[in-house]
Amino acid sequence: MTPLFDSHCHYNLSPLLEDWREHWQSAQNEGVRHSIVVGTDLTSSQKAIKLAEQNNNLRAAVGVHPSEWNGLDFQTTRKQIEKITKNLKKIIQEHNVAAIGETGLDFFRIETADAQSRENQAAAFRAHIALADEHALPLIIHARDTTDEAYTAILENLKKYKKNDTPVILHCMSGPVEYIKEAVRRGYFFGVAGNVTYKNADELRKKVALVPPGQLLLETDAPFLPPNAHRGEVCQPYFIAETAEYVRAKLNRDLEEIYQTTCRVFGAHT
Ligand SMILES: [Zn+2]
Repeated sequence: MTPLFDSHCHYNLSPLLEDWREHWQSAQNEGVRHSIVVGTDLTSSQKAIKLAEQNNNLRAAVGVHPSEWNGLDFQTTRKQIEKITKNLKKIIQEHNVAAIGETGLDFFRIETADAQSRENQAAAFRAHIALADEHALPLIIHARDTTDEAYTAILENLKKYKKNDTPVILHCMSGPVEYIKEAVRRGYFFGVAGNVTYKNADELRKKVALVPPGQLLLETDAPFLPPNAHRGEVCQPYFIAETAEYVRAKLNRDLEEIYQTTCRVFGAHT
């Protein structure tokens, strides 16, 4: 069995958190050797650290999801970013952290007129970029929008503010073709989740085909985004085996290469 590396999984969120040991065991039974447990706010980041400290092959990413900044005013956002940054720095100094994230821009549920939420997300994103640079850690980015706006802004912010060449991971890849192409040129990494197996995902599969070997990673994003056979269910981490098999058989990707790439990105032993 080719070993698998789940580059994005939320054992730290309900309903996985309650039985995370069993989920992790089932995933290992399906060949998963490593998993990045990704924080979405301060509490879930701390939980990710806790889980990682109980298991060598679970590693924590710490950060605050872009949607957490929606609807806040300017002052509150500034204070919150300061507080979060301080807390995350402390966590990074005291614990073994594998990456910063998830951060990014998600304009999917924001009203067009809501400029404040966009600004909040961008300010928080820049704070995460700075953290990744300062601590030489990979940066895990969440991007979602119905237009090109968030994707364009992500590329601009990274170009302007990302100083070190630590790995940039675009998790659950999506977005316009030009954005994907530019990210490929810059050497960013792309996480492919269970939605690549959906019947109506031809557009996504075309985009995956643009990503050269050595820049492609696998993820579950569990408990979200179950693969096709499990649509409508809670995504369980062991479902990654189905996504992996699809990526191997239908998209002609080398799973061993994906595994080696992911180990390199997160500095994990193979
Ligand atoms: Zn996620």
